[in-house]
Amino acid sequence: MTDLFSKFDPIIEQRRALLETGVTDPFSLVMEEVKSPTVAVCNGRETILLGTYNYMGMTFDDDVIAAGKQAFDEFGAGTTGSRVLNGTFRDHRAVEEALKEFYGMEHAMVFSTGYQANLGIISTMAGKGDYIILDIDSHASIWDGCAMGNAEVVPFKHNDVEALEKRLKRLPADAGKLVVLEGVYSMLGDIAPLKEMIAVSKAAGAMVLVDEAHSMGFIGEHGRGVAEAQGVLDQVDFVIGTFSKSVGTVGGFCVSNHPKFEVLRLVCRPYVFTAALPPSVMASSVTSIRKLMHGSNKRAHLWENSRRLHGGLRALGFQLGTEEPQSAIIAVIMPDLEKGAMMWEALLENGLYVNLARPPATPAGMTLLRCSLCAEHSAEQVEDILARFERAGKAVGII
Ligand code: PMP
Repeated sequence: MTDLFSKFDPIIEQRRALLETGVTDPFSLVMEEVKSPTVAVCNGRETILLGTYNYMGMTFDDDVIAAGKQAFDEFGAGTTGSRVLNGTFRDHRAVEEALKEFYGMEHAMVFSTGYQANLGIISTMAGKGDYIILDIDSHASIWDGCAMGNAEVVPFKHNDVEALEKRLKRLPADAGKLVVLEGVYSMLGDIAPLKEMIAVSKAAGAMVLVDEAHSMGFIGEHGRGVAEAQGVLDQVDFVIGTFSKSVGTVGGFCVSNHPKFEVLRLVCRPYVFTAALPPSVMASSVTSIRKLMHGSNKRAHLWENSRRLHGGLRALGFQLGTEEPQSAIIAVIMPDLEKGAMMWEALLENGLYVNLARPPATPAGMTLLRCSLCAEHSAEQVEDILARFERAGKAVGII
């Protein structure tokens, strides 16, 4: 028998070597108690959360929780069915209505996760003979959507408008083309030049999909994302999003103005062949989305937090993923995986949780400590975070 696990030996070895240095396994942390959007108990210690993507702090919003509890009582624990059979309950529709209003778009379709939304829309929209042109640093769910479909995949250099244009010009003029972009790239926290990219895409006759997972509720006048902030939302054919970040629940979606959009409910396999989200999740989500429509004070505070953390880390001498804060993600670049894991652990021992990110999730083989801020972090908490970074950075010898 050939052991099919043998292909994973290099990863098993890398993990063994890392754990042998005595560091805590960064990929098996348990939140023993969660006290608020910004504080949890990990390894018996009260810990500030700075790596949860809980941008607007909606996980503990009273109305969001109350709506979920009520739906539990009224609709039960689960749907036990696909959206196209018995799995569409009142609040699945209510969420889709709220999304249409939130984005000012004609159509909205809810998936069980954001991962499935990308998987479904990309693999279904781009078929045999079509082309998908995508940023090389795209999220795994986008790459997996490409792998699941039959289109030809054409990557281009991260955020490089000229490279995108060149690729587009080489493709047959009459072929179907889907350009896939992200508003905020979650590894470095940088935003895309969507305005320019959409202009060259449209000039080449391509349809455009933008994943706004990390900008919803925060970037743009109405929190519609980077495409809104850059004034090009009306030219985007598909916006993909998730409830697992600003909305504070779980689920994914696509919104669009295309008149034939509704046919996707019949042909998109990751929508059809899986159970619909529980009614409690939908009730919480609709409440959260509607509250995010009026979240401008929280948005302003989140920007303040982002600027304060970015400026503070830079002043301490850390190397950061962007020159200026462009989103609520601040990436701290580590010299290598070993130092990164040591720093991650030192921060945890100082009561601070961040994400340790490493290849293949990260670009250019980088090890990153990814910080994602929350609108519920107070200014004092951000100062406290900086003090903890200083202590840990000095102890590990990074600053
Ligand atoms: N797109 C991007 C850009 C993401 O970062 C993520 C999650 N990290 C997803 C999609 C998937 O979202 P979900 O957690 O809802 O599956």
